[in-house]
Amino acid sequence: MKFGVHTSIAGGIDQAVVRAAELDCGAFQIFSTNPRGWKAKEISDKEAQCFKDALIKYNLGTVVVHTPYLINLASPKEHIYDKSIKALIAGIKRADKIGAKYMVLHPGSHTGAGIDQGIENIAKGLIRVITETDPEVNILLENVAGAGTAIGKSIKELERIIKEADNHKQLGICYDTCHGFAAGYDIREEEEVDILLEEIDSRIGLKRLGVIHANDSIGELGSNKDRHHHIGEGKIGLEGFRNLVNHPQLKDNAFILETPVDEQKNDQDNLTIIKSLVE
Ligand SMILES: [Zn+2]
Repeated sequence: MKFGVHTSIAGGIDQAVVRAAELDCGAFQIFSTNPRGWKAKEISDKEAQCFKDALIKYNLGTVVVHTPYLINLASPKEHIYDKSIKALIAGIKRADKIGAKYMVLHPGSHTGAGIDQGIENIAKGLIRVITETDPEVNILLENVAGAGTAIGKSIKELERIIKEADNHKQLGICYDTCHGFAAGYDIREEEEVDILLEEIDSRIGLKRLGVIHANDSIGELGSNKDRHHHIGEGKIGLEGFRNLVNHPQLKDNAFILETPVDEQKNDQDNLTIIKSLVE
């Protein structure tokens, strides 16, 4: 398996590769643009080439791009939906330009229109962007903690989206351990990880599970709180992560940390801890 962190693109996207290499990552995640705005700066041919050269230089193959938070394919509001489609198309083009393997997308919030309508909107949107871009990058729908009207709190909901989006081969999922725990998926016992992976396999197919966001949870099991914590210090605890990183069915997956950076611990600390759990 590969371990990595979410890293900044400050100073140019190729600098993200250098930062990931300095942390001895085998994979890493970036935002390819400002995550809280609609406007995205184009990546020039030169920037893309520098990025790809750096990947070769540092022997880093697995790049994950996280999409901006404003994108909401479930939105019943036409102007938000249209902006979301445009932003997603631009994001896919950027991801393909830099040779990213995965793009992580939060499915979206129906904001009162109902879950069925929300899922229909997401699926139609995904078909539209895939038809228009014919992407190389795999689009991974991330499970959510289940607060408000956000869609994707269960494997079943992610399954519905993928199936309604014609089961397109470029679609898959990203499993966030903090969100999953907050949504009620316990991984503190080995058997519970087996049950979770069996459900992913039967509903979606384990080969579509590209990335695991490894985050401990401040919130309790089923709390629906999206609050990430340092590995081993939250309610999941070290045993839960030990179960995950040693699971034979996850040996080819990329584990990306989105843990806090504070006076207590930084990315290097959390990476060292999660790597030390591998037996
Ligand atoms: Zn995440």
